Amino acid sequence: MLTDARPLAPFANEPIRTFTDPADRASIEAAIARARGALGRRYPLVIDGAEVDGSTTIASLNPAHPDEVIGYVVEATHEQASHALDVATARFATWSKKTYAERAAFLLRAAAAIRERKDDFNALLVLEAGKPWIEADADTAEAIDFLEYYAREALKFDSPAPLVPSPLPETNELRYLPLGVGAIIPPWNFAFAIMAGMTCAAIVTGNTVLLKPSPDAAVIAAHFVDLMHELGVPPGVINYVPGDGPTVGEAIVTDPRTRFISFTGSKNVGLRINELAARTGPGQKWIKRVIAEMGGKDAIVVADDADLDRAVEGVVAAAFGFSGQKCSACSRAIVDASVYDVFLEKLIAATRSRIVIGDPADGATNLGPVINEKAAEKIGRYIELAAGEGRIVCGGKRVERDGWFFEPTIVADVAPRARIAQEEVFGPFVAVIKARDFDDALAIANDTEFGLTGSLYSADPARLARAADEFFVGNLYLNRKCTGALVGVHPFGGFNMSGTDSKAGGYDYLLLFVQSKAIATYTPR
Ligand code: NAD
Repeated sequence: MLTDARPLAPFANEPIRTFTDPADRASIEAAIARARGALGRRYPLVIDGAEVDGSTTIASLNPAHPDEVIGYVVEATHEQASHALDVATARFATWSKKTYAERAAFLLRAAAAIRERKDDFNALLVLEAGKPWIEADADTAEAIDFLEYYAREALKFDSPAPLVPSPLPETNELRYLPLGVGAIIPPWNFAFAIMAGMTCAAIVTGNTVLLKPSPDAAVIAAHFVDLMHELGVPPGVINYVPGDGPTVGEAIVTDPRTRFISFTGSKNVGLRINELAARTGPGQKWIKRVIAEMGGKDAIVVADDADLDRAVEGVVAAAFGFSGQKCSACSRAIVDASVYDVFLEKLIAATRSRIVIGDPADGATNLGPVINEKAAEKIGRYIELAAGEGRIVCGGKRVERDGWFFEPTIVADVAPRARIAQEEVFGPFVAVIKARDFDDALAIANDTEFGLTGSLYSADPARLARAADEFFVGNLYLNRKCTGALVGVHPFGGFNMSGTDSKAGGYDYLLLFVQSKAIATYTPR
């Protein structure tokens, strides 16, 4: 039973604030000051609800000021990860027996608590992930949305599944059972929403988990795990085991006690996990289930009949929002030759006039840093490549300041098969490609191993309809930008090398975390 007797209101997305209201500004500024006052704490592992210390830590840094340590996160050893797997296996026996409604109640309580402490979570996202205020607020709002949405979706599993009446003398039933112990391996870029959403989808369906956060966003994950325990989630249901991917991550993925892996991150890591998970270990009785959401090389197609100002607005927002560090970010603008020059001119002007580079903590910026030194080096390599594969018409330099900042970079005249048009850069970087006509533009858009998001700007209903049929992406947007999916509204996930198309925030997502059992009972008539 839900602990609160009132009927549950229909799901509605959490509003995202713009921080134009002085009260909102004051609230987030105060929260950032509070978070700064608590920097440098040590975050132990949490296994079976108890803190567990260790000898090595990972320092999570502020990407805008790398000398500012957000926290020292204890790194799990193999033995500790193995102990966490024993604990999660033991706790599964009781957690899996609760009703869906009992488990959903924890998610609803957590959503309410996060709503109350929104700016404290926002402040962590600003400092640990380098998110501008609005992006941070959108991340926290999405975390709330996932919890509210999955709580409601889980309740459906307590009701009888619709089955065809049997012609035989029997009654029939279909039950949804949890899978077992899951490895939750999120990325750092939606440090709150994706991490909390993946964890909660797994636990609301009755599984227990080991949450291995990204080393770049492990502090916010620690706060989330603390909150869940504070709200009464039983010990051992969520075990917090931070560490490096290739060591701790792989140890959990390969362990025979792991029943499923829920991963969101890059293509290469997703493929590696998929391969490792396919091998069976000693005593393993199941085929591990892998849910893998991976990268993108998302395109916005601009047709000759498009509203160019709207298209420019969409490309600027989708290419440079959160420094291009979204899997849905526009990294290719594919533009009809007849409007190419005008579009490019407008794109450069809009980028120069609208993008303000700076420290996200001060609230005046819309282009913060990239996440870490490794990312900065990678983006730097793509900019070097861009000089040979196209014409850098805007940006193209690392910004000389503390932290890992890049100018918003536009590379024109890029060939469709150039590396910068095929590989995920994950920075404020967009390749502009000239298409002969609409057919060519659509073919270029689909000429990628990925298939995550895409947009078409066109005034022609026939072209929009063709894109709906032929643009091969999991999330297609017509006459709007390709970022900003809303939970429940735009179930999110991609095709091909973008992953298993497990639609996060969609009505069928929770089915990935359960197995169904059909029970037929002979009933004499
Ligand atoms: P990443 O692949 O480097 O890391 C993701 C997670 O995997 C981290 O927790 C990391 O520690 C862990 N990991 C790394 N190597 C591992 C290994 N060998 N075994 C087990 N775990 C391992 O990705 P990232 O840099 O954190 O995130 C950015 C990537 O995520 C981009 O490619 C982006 O497109 C993608 N992404 C996809 C979606 C989606 O819904 N499709 C959403 C957000 C981000």
